[in-house]
Amino acid sequence: MKSDKIRLTLGDWQWNASVIGFINIVGEENVCHIEADTVEFWPEALDGFENKYFAYFINTYEKTLSWYKIVNFQDRLNTYEENNFEEFDLKALEFLNVYIKDVKRYIKSNSYKAAYELIDSEVELLSFEKQLITIKEPKNQQRFDVDKSEIVNEVKRRFLLLQQIINYCASSEGRRYIGAKNAIYNIINNAWNGVSFLNSQTKEKNIYSDYKSYFVDTATGYLQSEKGKYKYNCFVCDAPIKDMSNDLSFLNATGFDVARKSSHVWNFQNDITICPLCKLIYSCLPAGIIYTYNRGIYINQTIKLKDAVRINNKIKSRILRSQDGSMRPIYHALVSVLHEQENDSAKYELADVQVVRYENESYRFNILAKPMLQIIVNSKKELDSLIRVNFIENGRNINVYDEVIGRIFNNQNLFTLIHKMLYGKLSDASKCYFNGSHVRNVLIINQLICSRLGGMKMDNTYLVKKSREAGESLRNKYFNKDSNHKLAGICYRLLNALKTTNENMFMDVTLNCYLYVNSQVPKVITDALGRGKDFSTMGYAFVSGLIDGQDGSGNKEKKAEGE
Ligand SMILES: [Zn+2]
Repeated sequence: MKSDKIRLTLGDWQWNASVIGFINIVGEENVCHIEADTVEFWPEALDGFENKYFAYFINTYEKTLSWYKIVNFQDRLNTYEENNFEEFDLKALEFLNVYIKDVKRYIKSNSYKAAYELIDSEVELLSFEKQLITIKEPKNQQRFDVDKSEIVNEVKRRFLLLQQIINYCASSEGRRYIGAKNAIYNIINNAWNGVSFLNSQTKEKNIYSDYKSYFVDTATGYLQSEKGKYKYNCFVCDAPIKDMSNDLSFLNATGFDVARKSSHVWNFQNDITICPLCKLIYSCLPAGIIYTYNRGIYINQTIKLKDAVRINNKIKSRILRSQDGSMRPIYHALVSVLHEQENDSAKYELADVQVVRYENESYRFNILAKPMLQIIVNSKKELDSLIRVNFIENGRNINVYDEVIGRIFNNQNLFTLIHKMLYGKLSDASKCYFNGSHVRNVLIINQLICSRLGGMKMDNTYLVKKSREAGESLRNKYFNKDSNHKLAGICYRLLNALKTTNENMFMDVTLNCYLYVNSQVPKVITDALGRGKDFSTMGYAFVSGLIDGQDGSGNKEKKAEGE
């Protein structure tokens, strides 16, 4: 019966993240995209939902859980035993001691103790904890070698204990309950708190049963209930509800930017009433947000639910793979999603993207505007050429691709980056792993940014190309006069003029140069006068032509990836 299907439609970001969390939990194959912003699913998707709920978190974040740190030692343990401890040295002993301390700390923690009560086993893990003690470490490897056989005997005894602990944790019940406890206190409690298994007063010890009765059974009971006489309506889905007992107060922080909150909105948010089904969906919020290093991220794309799922999943896999806590993996993932559309039948509809971050227990928001996303799509070729382009500034390695992407997402132009690149090339070309074509590509992307930001329309490659050619041809004239040693000084002066957008100074220097080589100033230079960003673009492109390969050093041998 069609009417029995449940529909979810996109709304504000917190709801959207919860819907995506729900889809992640039940699996996209169990929902049906019926409109761009709407999915449907059968109530059967809620059967055993509590198991799917925890399984999602345990599977997704497995390698970050303390449970994993315990059981992952198994491989090491096997290797040492198989080699009869031949490779076991002082370092290995130190590592083992650290591991033992960690294991002791974990297995006597309250959340582990609570899990033991749910695991059907004869094993008393806490009695192992007392027996499990670290092994005295000799002063150095020589001492270690002298006492090795004794030490190994001790290690073997520890391994016996550890093996039992690992077996216990790695069992399916161990993973199910300890994993779920880990997920609750590392992931889920970032999004909500105070109810069900996160209510410190809860009577139900089994976290699965607690979640089931508090969220799932309430929702399914509500779905089957006769709603004819209900007087209120759900704020989210408008369905009739019996009373005002369910609200959003269990969600951490609120959906509004704290900095912009106005008191009536604030109260309003806390007062709103929802139906038990929407509450169940909201409990999936932590499965929609991607957590790393106690921070969360969610990309709110509101046009197509399918795209939102895809973008967030892509970012999830990037972030969970990378060790980087910055915005970088997020930007990279977004760029790759945007670029994928080129070869993709399921084209993205480009729209503003809202980046929601959870940091220090509050939500922060960034908007990535459509024009900026469009620039990323349009300059794929130029961007790709910059992926491995680096230079060193003040001892710090700077990746040009990251800089460009970061600036685009922050609505900034690239002039200061171009300046740094050219200045670096002049002062120490050996620290600049790029060539003229890379500068040209940065300039071309920058022209795109400037025309978007400033609303001007012009062929972005033409100005860069012509200006660079003018610089190159002037350089050749200096070479012909054996005056190439003068070029560095000229470039410095031109860069200074550009940095302060001093057109007069720039023109003084260029006029002198052309006088010196007895040529006319090219039209591309004079045409750009008084034209703001175009003048800067011309100037930097001109200087990059003047610098390029002037002394044969740098990375001329490195083939230009942009060509
Ligand atoms: Zn509702």
